Amino acid sequence: MTRRVLVVEDNALNRELLVALLEAEGCDVLPAESADAVTELVARVRPALIFMDVQLPGITGYEATRRLKGNPATAAIPVVAVTAQAMRGEEARARAAGCDAYLSKPVSARALQDVLRRWLGDGAGSSPDRR
Ligand code: MN
Repeated sequence: MTRRVLVVEDNALNRELLVALLEAEGCDVLPAESADAVTELVARVRPALIFMDVQLPGITGYEATRRLKGNPATAAIPVVAVTAQAMRGEEARARAAGCDAYLSKPVSARALQDVLRRWLGDGAGSSPDRR
């Protein structure tokens, strides 16, 4: 299974940190600063997994996720919401938007490894559900 992942994050430091963590896990990372062209970008890149910042200039991460999940061509690609908002109910909002998983910033290597194991498998062909 491909480990190509898309990272949508407008903050340069947060983006670089997440990209570095993902590359350390063997992912082929494509960074993007906004989700405005997300449909076209995802159709072109065909990532196995998408990390979606929630607060973005232009359309929000949740709106972008709704668009991806509403399109049969991209609906099956798992989307991980990444948010700084440690607010009560944020995970429920992410789920309502169609996000498959949720990470809060700052993203820890351990939390990221759990997400990758769950949604990409371990890279050795195991089922995503095998822990
Ligand atoms: Mn942001």
